[in-house]
Amino acid sequence: MKLRIAIQKSGRLHDDSIKLLKECGIDINNGVNKLKTEASNFPLEVFFLRDDDIPQYVEDGVADLGIVGENVVLEKNRPVRTVEKLGFGKCRLSLAVSKSVEYNGVKDMDKLRIATSYPVILEKFLKEHGLTADIHEISGSVEIAPGIGLADAICDLVSSGSTLFMNGLKEVEVILKSEAVLISNSSLTTEQEAILRKLQFRIQAVKKAKNNKYILLNAPNDKLKEIISLLPGMKSPTVLPLAEEGWSSVHSVLNENDFWDIIESLKEAGAQGILVVPIEKMII
Ligand code: ATP
Ligand code: MG
Repeated sequence: MKLRIAIQKSGRLHDDSIKLLKECGIDINNGVNKLKTEASNFPLEVFFLRDDDIPQYVEDGVADLGIVGENVVLEKNRPVRTVEKLGFGKCRLSLAVSKSVEYNGVKDMDKLRIATSYPVILEKFLKEHGLTADIHEISGSVEIAPGIGLADAICDLVSSGSTLFMNGLKEVEVILKSEAVLISNSSLTTEQEAILRKLQFRIQAVKKAKNNKYILLNAPNDKLKEIISLLPGMKSPTVLPLAEEGWSSVHSVLNENDFWDIIESLKEAGAQGILVVPIEKMII
């Protein structure tokens, strides 16, 4: 019994999808121009497909799982299950207009011609705002549409905004924030569910590790109490005596989000020789 997972054949999500599977300890050889490959140490078969096709394949049960952008999942609107956000492939689906146009809010979009590869999501957004617009569906190079007179505005994926900028456009409205997600067929067998849970457990351990850092520091014993109160740790920090009398080494785990604030407070409280180390896997 194996699970079949569909990932992007080539493009923005390909490398990170492979990397995630590898970080989960799953060995796959990623031959160029291969249609599929098998993991040697986990019950998983990997199919390489165009990202647009992945929701459909997962719905049909040709693949049991898929890794694809939320933007594609919502646009294709197939009855598949979103199992886990994966933290890569981050982008937003935004409305943009020519830099020279004055923009005062979403109502300015009413009755415009909008070029997009995401007609379903755009239509829904316009409806929710009580607007009508003329949606021009095009499959690529959406950003050139205003320049050639095809549209007044575009609705397209943005990450840094440099493509918009180069085409004389400005981002005026974010419709959707997206990242890669793991999707699954909605009726897996019990046996398949068990393999999915194993994979999900590993993905969560990898994700948690990425969001946390291992920290080691030296502290004089008379400052230990204050320093320890600043550190969360998984249960509580580890404290070990240093060879030098009156000093200890303190070990703990810090979340990326409050990392810099805590480091500052630790220094102020008298911590020295602070080391910060990446964590490979984290199981709580
Ligand atoms: P395919 O050949 O598989 O159809 P594609 O050209 O449709 O590929 P890519 O451009 O490789 O797709 O993008 C894949 C996904 O990467 C997007 O659907 C989106 O979720 C994510 N992504 C992240 N940043 C961006 C960005 N700046 N522009 C486009 N997509 C982005
Ligand atoms: Mg595509």
